[in-house]
Amino acid sequence: MNRIVVLLLLLVPGLAAAAREPAQYTLRYDAASRVMRVSLCLDRAAARQRFAGDATAPDHVRDLSRSSGASLQRDGDGWNARDWRAGECLRWHADLGRIADANAHRSSLRASETITDPGGWLLMASGIEAADASVELPAGIAMSAPWTPLPSPDATRRYRIVHTPTDWLARLAIGHLSETTIERPGGRLHVAIGGKSDVAQRARLLAWLGRVSDAATTAYGRLPLADVQVLVIPVGAQREAVVFGQSTRGQGNGLSLFVDPSRDARAFERDWIAVHELSHLFHPHLGARGAWLAEGLATYLQNVLRARAGLLTPAQAWAELADGFARGRAATPRDRAPTLEHASLAMETDHGYGRVYWSGTAYWLVVDLELRRSSGGRLGVDEALRRFDACCLAKQDWTPQAFVERLDALLGTDVFARRWHEYRGLAQFPDIPALDDPADAAVRAAIMRAKDRSDAKSKAKD
Ligand SMILES: [Zn+2]
Repeated sequence: MNRIVVLLLLLVPGLAAAAREPAQYTLRYDAASRVMRVSLCLDRAAARQRFAGDATAPDHVRDLSRSSGASLQRDGDGWNARDWRAGECLRWHADLGRIADANAHRSSLRASETITDPGGWLLMASGIEAADASVELPAGIAMSAPWTPLPSPDATRRYRIVHTPTDWLARLAIGHLSETTIERPGGRLHVAIGGKSDVAQRARLLAWLGRVSDAATTAYGRLPLADVQVLVIPVGAQREAVVFGQSTRGQGNGLSLFVDPSRDARAFERDWIAVHELSHLFHPHLGARGAWLAEGLATYLQNVLRARAGLLTPAQAWAELADGFARGRAATPRDRAPTLEHASLAMETDHGYGRVYWSGTAYWLVVDLELRRSSGGRLGVDEALRRFDACCLAKQDWTPQAFVERLDALLGTDVFARRWHEYRGLAQFPDIPALDDPADAAVRAAIMRAKDRSDAKSKAKD
C-alpha cells in the first residue's frame, strides 16, 4: 500500500473508527414514557462475556436480548453470554421514570427532573475499562451525566464512560435542564441547572458557582480534574441556600447540589457545601475506611479556600475551624470510643459525622502547620496535592495508606504517614494546636492567603 492510500484511509472517518473503544453504547430516551433504550456493541469476540450493573440492575433491566438471537444466562447480579461474536450487540431498556420516582419517594427533596444512578441500569461489559456512548434525546430535553463529553458533529451527544466499581454512586438527570460550562485553568465544570428556576435565579447560581470555582483554583492555581459534572437541583423554599451536596465518583467525577434558588446572592456566598464538595476532587476515592481523611480534607479546604477567595475573612475561617473542633470534641464519646478508623467505617450507620469530619480536619491542619514550619513555607498541603494531581489523581482507587505514603514520597517527608498511623488509632478527639500562638502567626496567615500565581509565572519567564 502506498503512502497516499494509507493517508486517505486515515482521513476517512468510518475507517479511522477502527481505533475507537471496543465498546459502544447507543442510548435513546423517550420523554413521554421516560424509558431509555440501550444497545451495547462490542468489537471483539469472547468465549464468555459477562455484563453487570450494581445490585439493583436485575430489577431495572427489561427485555435483555442479544442481536445474534443467542441466549443469556443470569448469574448473580449480572448475565453471561457464551460465544459472543465480534460486533454483536446487547439490547435492553430501563424505565428511568419508575426508578427515579421510587428513589424520590425515599427522599424529602423533590426534584422535577428524572434522576437515577446509571449504575442501576447501564450494564457494563466485563474486561473493558471505558466505552464510548452516543445519546439521542428529544428536542428540549437535556441530560447531566458524570461522563466526559466528546465532540459531536451533530445533535447526538457523545461521551466517554469510564468503568468504576459498581457500588460507587453516580447521578444522571434528564429533563428541562439549562446547561453551561464553567472553564477554569485545568478543567471544566459541566453545569446543569434544573427546571424550577427562572432566568435571574440561574444567573445568580452561575455567578456563585463561578466564585466557588475560583475558590477551588486557589489551592494550586488549577482545578484538579479536567471534566466535572455539576448538577444543581432546585428543591423549593428551604432554610439555607444550599440544603444538601454530594460528590460522586461513579462513571466519572460529579457533584450534586440541592438548592433553594429564591435565596439572594449573599445567602449563596455564606454557603460552605459547594466548596466542600468541590474540595473532594483533590483526593482520590478512599472508601469508608478513609472517610476521616477524605472528609477532613474537604472540611479543612472548605474554610481555607473560601478565605483565600474572599468568601470569608481569615479570622472568620479560623473561627469556623475552632467552632468545628469544639463540636467534634463534644461529639466524641468520653470513654470506650472506637478508634477513629472504626468510627469512619461505621459513620453512615452511626451518624458519627461530627467526630469523623473534625478529627480528620485536625489531621490536615496539623500536617499543614508541620510542613510549613519545617520547610520555611516552601511545602504544605497545597504543594502535596499539586504534586499528587500531576502524577496520581487520575488513578481511581487508592487505599488510605497508599495515599498518605505517596504524599510523603512526593515531598520527601514522613509527616503524612506518621500522623495517619497516629490518628487512625485515636480513641479520643485529637489535641488541637493553639490557633492564636504568636510563633505561628506568619504560618497561619500564609495558609489563608492565595498565592499570586501570575506573579510566580512572570518571574519564571525572566
Ligand atoms: Zn464531604
